[in-house]
Amino acid sequence: LMQLSIPLNFIGFVYREIRQGLTDIEAMFDLLEVEEEVKDQPNAPDLVVKEGTIKFDSVDFRYDHDRPILKNVSFEVPAGKTVAIVGPSGAGKSTISRLLFRFYDIQGGSITIDGQDLREVDQSSLRAAIGMVPQDTVLFNESIAYNVRYGRMSATEEEVRQAADRAQIGDFIERLPQGFATQVGERGLKLSGGEKQRVAIARTLLKAPPILILDEATSALDTQTEQEIKAALDIVSENRTTVVIAHRLSTVIDADEIIVLRTGEIAERGTHQDLLKMGGLYSAMWDRQREASEAEQALRDAQARD
Ligand code: ADP
Ligand code: MG
Repeated sequence: LMQLSIPLNFIGFVYREIRQGLTDIEAMFDLLEVEEEVKDQPNAPDLVVKEGTIKFDSVDFRYDHDRPILKNVSFEVPAGKTVAIVGPSGAGKSTISRLLFRFYDIQGGSITIDGQDLREVDQSSLRAAIGMVPQDTVLFNESIAYNVRYGRMSATEEEVRQAADRAQIGDFIERLPQGFATQVGERGLKLSGGEKQRVAIARTLLKAPPILILDEATSALDTQTEQEIKAALDIVSENRTTVVIAHRLSTVIDADEIIVLRTGEIAERGTHQDLLKMGGLYSAMWDRQREASEAEQALRDAQARD
């Protein structure tokens, strides 16, 4: 790509956009061999994931020196467990996922995976250990089988089919006139946001990374789609260290710990039940979302009667 006389500043722009949106990172890194902003130490060893425990210890981070974004943030995701991060927009939730991929270095504290500081390991080994189900998945102008298999190119047809089934998208694909051979993407069948997300989940099931980051879409989903996605997410995160950046509180109820972030600081933490009892920010968010979904349901009921 570099040879195609694309101005360097344009590539820089694309890189920043990708880093910002975490849009199908792995695909993009393959396509654009861009120079990484954060440098590895000479002879940095590969990350070795034995258990998959993530630890943020008193992390301070800022993008610009005059504006702190994360302040003294500490939490642990024990191996195989799920931690959800919720909080108002701009609180610093997505920043946490960017730091896990080490797109930036922190100014204070440490982030480790199984005791290895992210600054001391080879970046490509770090990124290979983390799977990401992004808000909006990029599909290739290829068959849907190719798009699922992208998670692990050596997967057999049977494995592709199984991954699609477990991601709750298998039946949908089988019903298409050309099944798994159907062309998708810009020049083919357009999939909805929820369908694309399930393709991303199927890919991740094939890749089987020890660590998983889910960045939920903010847009509202209908109840049926929401339940299908929840079922797929439960399967993909089972026995895998998982960080969920959550917008829909319905998907965090079962998390082992929920962290409520407000302007870069942990305001509340605990299980869903703990946080409801606390009667603070989380419980207010919960009430608001419930009212919104009840209103939505009432609207649908009224439409169904017409
Ligand atoms: P959330 O995901 O909780 O909505 P983010 O982690 O995306 O929040 O952003 C946290 C804060 O950091 C916001 O105030 C945002 O404007 C700021 N921010 C995000 N990316 C950058 C950047 N590249 N440069 C400067 N500020 C940024
Ligand atoms: Mg965000």
